[in-house]
Amino acid sequence: MSFQKEINRRRTFGIISHPDAGKTTLTEKLLLFGGAIQEAGAVKSNKIKKGATSDFMEIERQRGISVATSVLAFEYNGTKINILDTPGHKDFAEDTFRTLTAVDSVIVVIDVAKGVEEQTEKLVEVCRMRNIPMIVFINKLDREGKDAFDLLDEVEQKLNLKVVPLSFPIGMGYEFKGIYNLWEKNINLFSGDSRRNIEETIEISDLSSPDLDKLVGEKSANTLRDEIELVDGIYPDFDKEEYLNGNQQPVFFGSALNNFGVRELLDCFVEIAPKPRPKQSEERLINPDEKNFTGFVFKIHANMDPNHRDRLAFIKIVSGTFERNKPYLHVRHGKKLKFSSPNAFFAEKKEIVDISYPGDIVGLHDTGNFKIGDTLTEGETINYKGIPSFSPEHFRYINNADPLKSKQLYKGIDQLMDEGVAQLFTLELNGRKVIGTVGALQYEVIQYRLEHEYGAKCSYENLNVHKACWVEAEDDKSEEYKEFLRVKQRYLAKDKQGQLVFLADSAFSLQMTQQTYPSIKFHFTSEF
Ligand code: GDP
Repeated sequence: MSFQKEINRRRTFGIISHPDAGKTTLTEKLLLFGGAIQEAGAVKSNKIKKGATSDFMEIERQRGISVATSVLAFEYNGTKINILDTPGHKDFAEDTFRTLTAVDSVIVVIDVAKGVEEQTEKLVEVCRMRNIPMIVFINKLDREGKDAFDLLDEVEQKLNLKVVPLSFPIGMGYEFKGIYNLWEKNINLFSGDSRRNIEETIEISDLSSPDLDKLVGEKSANTLRDEIELVDGIYPDFDKEEYLNGNQQPVFFGSALNNFGVRELLDCFVEIAPKPRPKQSEERLINPDEKNFTGFVFKIHANMDPNHRDRLAFIKIVSGTFERNKPYLHVRHGKKLKFSSPNAFFAEKKEIVDISYPGDIVGLHDTGNFKIGDTLTEGETINYKGIPSFSPEHFRYINNADPLKSKQLYKGIDQLMDEGVAQLFTLELNGRKVIGTVGALQYEVIQYRLEHEYGAKCSYENLNVHKACWVEAEDDKSEEYKEFLRVKQRYLAKDKQGQLVFLADSAFSLQMTQQTYPSIKFHFTSEF
């Protein structure tokens, strides 16, 4: 197959949702369609219950053995599909944000009864900022939920999307009869039998046909006719370009658990979802069909087994082909590296591969060379941008609890930060180190990992910080900026890249500071 064909047939995407909306279940059904797995229950949930550290450790340990769950790849009707796993737990939101830099599109799963939930809002906002094409899947139609139109409204309002329903439910919960597919103009009747892999669909080219009454009953048929008329009246026609530009989001309804409405979603997805897209580097825009390989690290996975300390760095291939044993330039280090056993990912396993294409993810064994955001090329010096840090929610001083192991402690902190587990800030005033995290769970994870992987002990001390803001001065020679540096010294720190950060202790003090120093900008992400 030609290089161009290999690119065109790839679809790399992520599924995002609030925990429990059905992401794992949907992933599994998609894999079943691809014939990649044989039975339900094969996809491991990455769920963390009630924030228990032991839970997290257990998951990490399992993943250490089977990291394949980070990327699930399968073939469907000639299309190579790569699903990138995104943790649903909010304490790991940063991990998800970073993974979103490696996807070409996303599917958003929403629970029909719960509607738009908090985590969905945050993740969709990130996708919207990046104009990532999104398809919405409204799940659990076999249960009583919100009225379809109300829900579509809610999605538009809360997520700031422009929806276009491409399927529509016939009833819901007890009364759920099936789905009318506006995309293919057919009806799929719901039997509630989850064991079926392929559902039968019935062509209905004309909704006014009496066949519809026979299929779903007169009452449901009439309701559907009215509703579809309303859909036609309210929503614009589906426009693929608008979808690809992130201006329009098609919506499907179904029940992942019952494997219902999933095929419609998948068939439409492979047809409309983008093939690997060009990516911006600091220097220039790189096209997937360029001959030379380029790619970037979006995730680093530590091996939790203390006997095998290596890590797996996940590279998204942006252009060219990645070949085994070929030397590639690690741009940040300015040195060439060769990889004798790059891993490719399949449904439940990983395998060493000789060649991978744009859109694919390869896992490279790493002993500490990589950090998140690193670029690999065939020799050209480019740097992919776009893996920002967000202001953490929690801040604590980290102290060394075993003076004999300070070297181990600093090495451990350094590597864990490279993996993106948390953010490190060094106070300007006294050089003390502060760890910032999205969730409190991370502190236990860090403590545990420092001890078990690096033999170091740490303790924490609370620090009252409301938000970390990256500081940008209009003129860093100005009197105003100098005064700011002097007066606010107690609240200033450097992040790991050496960028200046203001640690505001309250929303009020941030506001006051902004007013006092109008020529200084305070950013909530490290990229501006
Ligand atoms: P995740 O946290 O988003 O990965 O959600 P899961 O896929 O683990 O699903 C959460 C729960 O919802 C599980 O108990 C699923 O069995 C259930 N579930 C998923 N899809 C459906 C559905 O279509 N109908 C019903 N009734 N339950 C579902």
